[in-house]
Amino acid sequence: MSSATPVHADVLDRVTAFLAAHDPASTGRGEFLRARFDAGLAWVNYPEGLGGLGAPGTAQAVVDGAFAAAGAPTNEPDRIGIGLGMAAPTILAFGTDEQKQRYLRPLWTGEEVWCQLFSEPGAGSDLAALGTRAVREGDTWIVNGQKVWTSMAHEARWGILVTRTDPDVPKHKGMTYFICDMHAPGVEVRPLRQITGEAEFNEVFLVDVQLPDALRLGDVGDGWRVATTTLMSERVAIGGQSLPREGGIIGVLTALWRERPELRTSGLHSAVLQAWVEAEVARIAGERLRQQLAAGAPGPEGSAAKLAFASLNQSVSGLALELLGEEALTYEDWTLRRPISADFTGRSPGYSYLRAKGNSIEGGTSEILRTIVAERVLGMPPEIRVDKDVAWRDLPR
Ligand SMILES: Cc1cc2nc3c(=O)[nH]c(=O)nc-3n(C[C@H](O)[C@H](O)[C@H](O)COP(=O)(O)OP(=O)(O)OC[C@H]3O[C@@H](n4cnc5c(N)ncnc54)[C@H](O)[C@@H]3O)c2cc1C
Repeated sequence: MSSATPVHADVLDRVTAFLAAHDPASTGRGEFLRARFDAGLAWVNYPEGLGGLGAPGTAQAVVDGAFAAAGAPTNEPDRIGIGLGMAAPTILAFGTDEQKQRYLRPLWTGEEVWCQLFSEPGAGSDLAALGTRAVREGDTWIVNGQKVWTSMAHEARWGILVTRTDPDVPKHKGMTYFICDMHAPGVEVRPLRQITGEAEFNEVFLVDVQLPDALRLGDVGDGWRVATTTLMSERVAIGGQSLPREGGIIGVLTALWRERPELRTSGLHSAVLQAWVEAEVARIAGERLRQQLAAGAPGPEGSAAKLAFASLNQSVSGLALELLGEEALTYEDWTLRRPISADFTGRSPGYSYLRAKGNSIEGGTSEILRTIVAERVLGMPPEIRVDKDVAWRDLPR
């Protein structure tokens, strides 16, 4: 590991000094997190003044490890995944200085939750087919349309929103990207119940919603380019987390295997071993991807990590149910809850199995991601498409 580099040592010194001045045991959580942001120790690869130090991304693990060891409060990343993983990199890349100053700090501290208003009933994989209209009236945009599958919209203060602003030009050219005020009049969030029984996502109706032009992210008509930045970050956010060995869904299976020896059969033994090896390979490949990312922006390789994440979550959660046998037929609770975070592993094996079904759809379907990996990573000949448009979640060539 490179934790002994001079940069890492310097960053670690800053953490030590910060902790000396802000005792986690006696400093309030919000105050602690805001001060950590202001000290540049939030996302250390971000610029100074915006929660970072302009340090290499590899220093983040060093910082997070030191804060965790000191018992410092976290910003509950599972709760604010869309903000951290998608909205923040997009604001950083396309936001004005005022937007960066206004939104990044409460996003990182978790004081403001974000959601992603991309998918529509008629536009999923082919995002560029979206129909939500934004029409300019002076310094205000009037937005009308419907979004769907919007995770955590019921918790969100802000949304990242893609709209159609010019229906008369080719579809990829007539889109504009906004920050949507989820508290604005005309924004209605309705729960959508999932196979788990919960309503983690929603449909969002936008009726004459007025958004000031100051909430536009990027140029008018440049929404597709802004959205691809979000989407590239999304795949890494979903599939590229740093995990310890046996972290993630494989840990649920191995815990069952160890704690319930009476469930074991010889046939399942080899299946569990096989799953362990595949999970470990994916984990190490993810580690390499993160090191590449620390040196630059996410590329198409993130699609492979997201693909592996989805397929492993589904096969391993299925194996856990096989291990449980009849017990797997019971389910914890069908109450319609409104969760505050997506939890793929912290619940019962039955919940994990059902929740994993969505993993091959959310953040780009596995079919779309396979095409991206084939064409952009492996360099295979492009798929023949009926029209010349690239599909949603594909990347501009
Ligand atoms: C749990 C969960 C959370 C989600 N959260 C959000 C969110 O917060 N915000 C948001 O905007 N969206 C969210 N989504 C929506 C998600 O991004 C879309 O469901 C996804 O992009 C697919 O779009 P679709 O459902 O319209 O399916 P479609 O695009 O209609 O696809 C239907 C099927 O056709 C296949 N297909 C489509 N085009 C091609 C092609 N070119 N080549 C090969 N196969 C193809 C797909 O792979 C799929 O199997 C979420 C989805 C889930 C399941």
